[in-house]
Amino acid sequence: MKILVINSGSSSIKFRLVDAQTFYPIVNGILECIGTQRSKISCSIYNEKGIHKKHEEFLLINSHGEGVKFLVDYLHNRGFIGVFGDLAAIGHRVVHGGEWFKKSVLITESVIGRIRKTIPLAPIHNPANLIGIDICRDTFPSTPQVAVFDTAFHQSMPAKAYRYPLPESLYSEHRVRRYGFHGTSHQYVANRAAEFLGKPLSQLNLITLHLGNGASATAIQRGRAIDTSMGLTPLEGLMMGTRCGDIDPAIIFYLARVSGLAIDKIETLLNQKSGLFGVCGSNDMREIQQRFKQGDEQAKLAIEIYCYRIKKYIGAYLAILGRLDVLVFTAGVGENSPEVRLQVCQGLEHLGICIVPEKNKAKINSATEIQNDAGAVKIMVIPTDEETEIAQQTQACIQNSQ
Ligand code: AMP
Repeated sequence: MKILVINSGSSSIKFRLVDAQTFYPIVNGILECIGTQRSKISCSIYNEKGIHKKHEEFLLINSHGEGVKFLVDYLHNRGFIGVFGDLAAIGHRVVHGGEWFKKSVLITESVIGRIRKTIPLAPIHNPANLIGIDICRDTFPSTPQVAVFDTAFHQSMPAKAYRYPLPESLYSEHRVRRYGFHGTSHQYVANRAAEFLGKPLSQLNLITLHLGNGASATAIQRGRAIDTSMGLTPLEGLMMGTRCGDIDPAIIFYLARVSGLAIDKIETLLNQKSGLFGVCGSNDMREIQQRFKQGDEQAKLAIEIYCYRIKKYIGAYLAILGRLDVLVFTAGVGENSPEVRLQVCQGLEHLGICIVPEKNKAKINSATEIQNDAGAVKIMVIPTDEETEIAQQTQACIQNSQ
């Protein structure tokens, strides 16, 4: 039996077909640039030794709906899935579950209704996720479908962490609160760290740093998230590729007054033209590091702000956790930039965070410790794998519902 994972983003659909018992991939791929002339499918086909074939093809895919239909046909026509039978379940990543969902759930009409009600909180992502769910339910009506929410892992936060110091009515009437995102990634790397260290997650305190184009930090106490850096939306928190992260909210009103920018233009500015891109004109950390090495002052400043802000979150989360067992780096920058990891950890030795530059610099492909033996805190680099986490949660969900 197999599990199909569908992860619909704003302009792409990632998919992975895995063995339902081992979660080993059968096909893994992405449909990108949906709605443009350059739509493309790229996928890797696995055998027991690893990737044995790659396939890439340019297509014309106008919408998410067409994209999901294409993928289902693609997997079916090539014999990876039969129409009936060999799919144990389909797991869908859903970005926002609001306060309804504290864990993954079997998709029913009422679940769909709640995901729909949450659209105002994720106006781009939740509709794309719902299209994927609708098409898969039409195509495979008897196959269980599971929703795995980006927000669910953070639902264990206490009110003092998730409430904003704003009038109570904004929370009770409009659900204005902190939700947090990247939950499947934080949960996956926390589980992997526990597995690697041979300890139950319920005995560990961790800070997980998901540093990709989007970036977030989560404080995990005895296996449960107690705080996270993203808020009502993924704009709050760390400096990101193009998002500003924490800023004084009065900047918005000031900008509206002095520049006359409309509110939607300011929203675009903070989401798409800020962060690393805003400070130095690029959101690609590889390019920024290259420029830094060539003496570019803007690139240097961008990296300094980026690392300084991560360091401040580590300090804050250490304070609320009391004891820190593991600091985890993951996602594009966290997994691949020894320079960022070093700059973030430098100066934290008195807190037990002691990185070993040689271990940090080595090529890392799987969960690896990079701390000094004397350091109280394990520092780990763990490649994230949201699709495996979604497949595992999907399997657990259908087992619990039987
Ligand atoms: P993600 O969103 O997880 O795919 O991460 C994207 C970010 O990771 C981009 O800023 C990339 O520049 C960065 N990244 C990927 N590979 C490297 C690398 N080898 N060194 C530094 N940054 C990298």
